[in-house]
Amino acid sequence: MARVGVMICHCGSNISSVVDVERVAQAAMEMPGVAYAATNKYTCSISGQDTMKEAVEEHGLDRLVIASCTPRMHEATFRKMLSQTEINPYMLEVANIREQCSWVHTDKEKATEKAIDLVRMSVAKVLKNQPLQTSMIPVHKKCLVVGGGIAGIQAALDIADAGYPVTLLEREPSIGGKMVMLDKTFPTLDCSACISTPKMAEAGAHPNITMMTSCEVAAVTGYIGNFEVTIKQNPKYVNHDICTGCGLCEEKCPTKVSSAFNQGLAQRKAIYKLFAQAVPSKPVIDANNCRKFKDGKCGVCEKLCPLGCINFEDTESFVTDTYGAIILATGYELIDWGKYYPEYGGGKYKNVISGLQFERLVNASGPTEGKIKRPSDGEEPESVVIVKCVGSRDSAKAKSYCSRACCMYAAKHAHQILEKIDGARVYIFYIDVRTPGKGYEEFYDRTREDGAVYVRGRISKIYEENGIIICKGEDTLIGKQVIVEADMVVLETAMEPTAGSKDVAGIAGVSTDKDGWLTEAHPKLRPVETQTAGVYLCGTAQGPKDIPDTVAQASAAASKVMGLLSKSELETSPMISAVDAGKCAGCGFCESVCAYKAISMVDVPGMWGGRRVTRRVAQVNSGLCQGCGACAAACRTGCIDLLGFTNRQLLEEVDALCQL
Ligand code: FAD
Repeated sequence: MARVGVMICHCGSNISSVVDVERVAQAAMEMPGVAYAATNKYTCSISGQDTMKEAVEEHGLDRLVIASCTPRMHEATFRKMLSQTEINPYMLEVANIREQCSWVHTDKEKATEKAIDLVRMSVAKVLKNQPLQTSMIPVHKKCLVVGGGIAGIQAALDIADAGYPVTLLEREPSIGGKMVMLDKTFPTLDCSACISTPKMAEAGAHPNITMMTSCEVAAVTGYIGNFEVTIKQNPKYVNHDICTGCGLCEEKCPTKVSSAFNQGLAQRKAIYKLFAQAVPSKPVIDANNCRKFKDGKCGVCEKLCPLGCINFEDTESFVTDTYGAIILATGYELIDWGKYYPEYGGGKYKNVISGLQFERLVNASGPTEGKIKRPSDGEEPESVVIVKCVGSRDSAKAKSYCSRACCMYAAKHAHQILEKIDGARVYIFYIDVRTPGKGYEEFYDRTREDGAVYVRGRISKIYEENGIIICKGEDTLIGKQVIVEADMVVLETAMEPTAGSKDVAGIAGVSTDKDGWLTEAHPKLRPVETQTAGVYLCGTAQGPKDIPDTVAQASAAASKVMGLLSKSELETSPMISAVDAGKCAGCGFCESVCAYKAISMVDVPGMWGGRRVTRRVAQVNSGLCQGCGACAAACRTGCIDLLGFTNRQLLEEVDALCQL
């Protein structure tokens, strides 16, 4: 006879303020199979766990139901506790009477009845639980970091410093991301390049880091500890093994095109280094603009290169390697504001620029060598309007979320203008000012003391008249329309996920939220993990954030990876799908719905009418299966069960509710 123990948690007063926990415990004692029921103030605490361990021994329990918070919070804690008893850790059910009951109800009577129902269902289910056993898989001690911005660089350096090999993969010709485009960083105003370029150089020279630039992830198969990753190497047309980066080719190249690194404010050559401090410090050829590719003429670089590095025949190639862990750090880009805000000129006014364009203008290594000049005529602007939340917090037109860094870099931009241009006037249009960071509020105060004028309200229209930009908006604090004439306008536009990040997330089995940001496994408890074990995320790939938060998250992801790579073997969850091959009709529908490529169809020998035949049946790869249950739901013959959530268990739960 099964002996079920039931523990009802008060969760401080989170549960007990709405649910009569003592009544739930009394009701539990009446349920079939229950040998013990009690309440506890904090079941997850050490003393709470000790109480349960004692109850297991004292009452000879062989399974437990804990009615508490969501299983996502403490199921693992309770399993660990059970592993210190005689009970198999999987002979446990967690009834969620917090998120699904006390937090969503106010009527104590009804909430208590519902809590009793939830416990009754869990008791019915746990009676059908079977002990499950974990298995061990080997761990390949190598990590792939996708994205070479500050997030990817920091994560790669941390892991490499711990002694593990890392491949740092970047699709651009150089690592660095957006941080190297910035001039100074708030709130300390330290030079961005002075902090980022030494890290880039360190990553480039680190014995444990293999850097792969102009590369993309083409395919990922396998599972935690054993990912097979195919990397596509895009052609560089320059042999980096022998190139010394002397720069002669770039100097003599006759073709000039707009420089994306300089945000269209300067030109670069068709053979180019992304920027002066690029890592690797070697050029690539932009085949879309190179004359040799376009009309077969030129080839100056090939003629002049003293080492014969130019290879116009270069083609894309693929390499496959095995990694124990993957970190996605694919970053952000700014929205195309012209698309969302035609009322701001839609990009037709040269002097209406984005925040990143301003960063290049004010940057000592930028196109104007740090002098703030209007793009239209190179004149110094006297009056500058900065518009915050262009695309952020604007669900009607663009993005509903806050881009988090803009309040601070708008203040930084105002400070830089006031510092560099004598007598400049700066107006910042804002909805709110958000400064939640160390030294941030003080920096904002300082900007106002410097003379920046903050106007609370949105800009409704921007247009040009006689070379002057007119900004029409509203000052909501005085309830009046305001018109400001500006020589230049800086739009602090919303961040959005980098183009293609959704694709790479899909390849790695990571989901994205409604805005396309990569989704973490749990926002509070597993903020750098994803739902695919062994794949981690960090930086702005997960959502808008500033550099301190990006770096902190990168180190957090790195520490998770180091924890994983420090093991030679890994325990896997036994809560995966199991196929009853005898019942399987071999339709293959389960294979098509499996998001983790964990099911394959295999031929097995069988008998039919006394003859030997070969049957096609589904087979689950236990390493790849994530226990999502999609196959079990899709199976037409009902031959697939998710262990721990078998059809029988689920029906028992439903029956327990229906029998009332
Ligand atoms: P990114 O810098 O975007 O790096 C991502 C990298 O991944 C890029 O190199 C990209 O090419 C690469 N990548 C993308 N997709 C792929 C793929 N599929 N395969 C391979 N590689 C890929 N923060 C501050 O703290 N202080 C400041 O003063 C400040 N000023 C700012 C000013 C402006 C105008 C803006 C827009 C932002 C500012 N920020 C500031 C925020 C700062 O830029 C970010 O916090 C930081 O750069 C985020 O780094 P990241 O590595 O997450 O992303």
